[in-house]
Amino acid sequence: MPFRSLKPLHWQTATHQESITARGARLFGTTEEQFTSWRWQMKNQITSADEALRVLQLSHSEKEAFFELKDLFEAGVTPYYLALMDPNNEFCPVRLQGMPRLEETSDRIGVADPLQEVGNSPVKEVVHVYKDRVAFCVAQLCPVYCRYCFRKRRDEEVGLHFNPRIVDQGIEYIANNPNIRDVLITGGDPLIAQDGTLENLLSRLRAIPHVQILRIGTRVPVTLPYRITEELADMLARFHPLWINTHFNCPEELTPEAAAAIDTLLGRGIPVGNQSVLLAGINDTAERLKSLFEGLVKMRVRPYYLYQGQTVEGTAHLRVPIEKGLDLMRTLRGNTTGFAIPQYVLDTPTGKIPLSPNHVVGRDADDVVLLDLKKNHWRENNPLGSYVTAHPLPTAQKQL
Ligand SMILES: *Cc1c(COP(=O)(O)O)cnc(C)c1O
Repeated sequence: MPFRSLKPLHWQTATHQESITARGARLFGTTEEQFTSWRWQMKNQITSADEALRVLQLSHSEKEAFFELKDLFEAGVTPYYLALMDPNNEFCPVRLQGMPRLEETSDRIGVADPLQEVGNSPVKEVVHVYKDRVAFCVAQLCPVYCRYCFRKRRDEEVGLHFNPRIVDQGIEYIANNPNIRDVLITGGDPLIAQDGTLENLLSRLRAIPHVQILRIGTRVPVTLPYRITEELADMLARFHPLWINTHFNCPEELTPEAAAAIDTLLGRGIPVGNQSVLLAGINDTAERLKSLFEGLVKMRVRPYYLYQGQTVEGTAHLRVPIEKGLDLMRTLRGNTTGFAIPQYVLDTPTGKIPLSPNHVVGRDADDVVLLDLKKNHWRENNPLGSYVTAHPLPTAQKQL
């Protein structure tokens, strides 16, 4: 068996529910052995309403969107991710991420390339915003086309997936720029490639002396955990230091299958972080975020970023006001393990901006006045002395 354990790991509560693998195999009329083959999953990716209707009751909005918007935004889900969806609820948080909806046609403000990545790419698919690191978009295909994807504009082009010319040019650009010490391999989903293709890419990047760390951004632990085979993990570990960031958005995605995939990576010393996107109806309550982040640290995955959703075309129905995001972060602080709390950020064409609830009220002579977690003022005696700052604190009032 290429995919490791399907049994819950020892620390997981045993449930009597049917596993997603068992349920999926039953729904798709196949064996568990075939269902756990990532190639079978990709061959059987659901890309039309007819295919989805065989296993799911589609709502009017989903059906219309699948039929009518077929050419608007790419749609596709793996049988695994489909088996994770609640068949009776069109607003199931997993369904909202994977199934197209009619609301995608009524976004007035979303744009195609909110991060101006095209303009920020000195050579095709190498996004160079920070001096010392690049995002290298080698992949185009995904197991699941997330409805809120900020790179959906790339689906209109053909031939971006591990295109030899794009890969060669990108590697040449990185090799010629000694400032680049960190290469983030992304896409699309870069783990949708043969092991040999990935190995070739990784060894060419590793051969560049100034490239210190390699990072892979992938959603396969969430959307296609069977891709994380022992062989893949062994191969990746030959290119250390290699870090993986994955992308869980809601507690429903934390399955035993996903946990096994993560455990396989961690077992090879590959640190795994998580980037979530704050999405309406999917994870925009304190309870759901807490349960997601606590579930991740149980899997030894470090929540890294919580992104404000980009203002990308077709996503108005999933967008959350920044004030709400800040309130959610305020609620989490003090209510769970410190390292279960990711940094809330907004990505922009010039880089990521932290969105942090402000706890610093200001300075009153030798005191810095802070807001504690009970919303009381805390005076910290802390003279500025001779230190000259370009960022003076506002003046706090005496009575505080
Ligand atoms: C997010 C991003 C990175 C990596 O940023 P970190 O904050 O180091 O994780 C690098 N390049 C681009 C273009 C990015 O968008």
